[in-house]
Amino acid sequence: MHRAEPLARADEHQHGGLAQDAVGQEPPVFLLTVDVEDWFQVENFKPWIPFDSWGSRELRVVDNTLRLLDSLETLGGDRPVRATFFILGWVAARCPELVREMDARGHEVASHGYNHRLVPTCSDTELAEDLVSSRHCLEDILGKPVAGYRAPSFSIEPRLIRLLAECEYRYDASYNSFSGNARYGSFDDMPPADRGVALLSNGLYELPVSNLTVAGRKVPWGGGGFFRLIPKHLYAAGVKSEAARDGVFHFYLHPWEIDPGQPRVRQASAMFKFRHYLNLGHCLAKLTYLLDHLDGFVFSTCSEHLSHVTEKA
Ligand SMILES: [Zn+2]
Repeated sequence: MHRAEPLARADEHQHGGLAQDAVGQEPPVFLLTVDVEDWFQVENFKPWIPFDSWGSRELRVVDNTLRLLDSLETLGGDRPVRATFFILGWVAARCPELVREMDARGHEVASHGYNHRLVPTCSDTELAEDLVSSRHCLEDILGKPVAGYRAPSFSIEPRLIRLLAECEYRYDASYNSFSGNARYGSFDDMPPADRGVALLSNGLYELPVSNLTVAGRKVPWGGGGFFRLIPKHLYAAGVKSEAARDGVFHFYLHPWEIDPGQPRVRQASAMFKFRHYLNLGHCLAKLTYLLDHLDGFVFSTCSEHLSHVTEKA
């Protein structure tokens, strides 16, 4: 794999250039991101849990997210662990105190859409409505602007990039370079990222989730089920290796992944149950191990990191 080119190569005429020597001279950055949704809202269980039944399901996302927030308070030593929480509008509207709590603790609040609909299943009008309503929901709760968005299941497509800019988002975090998951979208016009940030032709920034690059191939390493599957020592080594190459590691997690007591969806297929329930009981300890072993890393929110990178442009 070639080394990431400076950010300015993506669109030099609009934003000028970054210092060529910036990469490698700064401490690596760990972007911890959390997709805030509940156990009954995941794609793996959608065939067995219809949308109109969500309101009658046991809501566990508040307790799980608070547990995660409390854990983050104790990690990182003298380096505060700040994360970006991409939260569903459906959850935020029912749990505004949770949104305010994330913000009060110094984390970034961003949008995961409103109803967890995959991008390809929405018309332009529906998608724009989802993007606007989810952002407004969060902004009404917090009284300040929301800048970022992550599509459910990384279901990015070029249309999404256009609509995000039109709906006045600053950045997207929906691109996952691993090609082995059919739900993940694709975006052929992705320019090379510089320290985890790529400037797209319409002025939107993309902050792609990290993966491991081995012999030119992308190995899924960004988080989620793969994080729960891979042994912790190996996983941490992979994170450090990728961050040494890119200057950043962009990680993702869900609150339901630290909840072994969640209701079981017994009708689901064996593969989906394997993916969803694997090692839930060990996930928080594994996250603790990882964050405790990132010596020399800086923890940043997506917006802070984006500002840091673009300020030098
Ligand atoms: Zn999601």
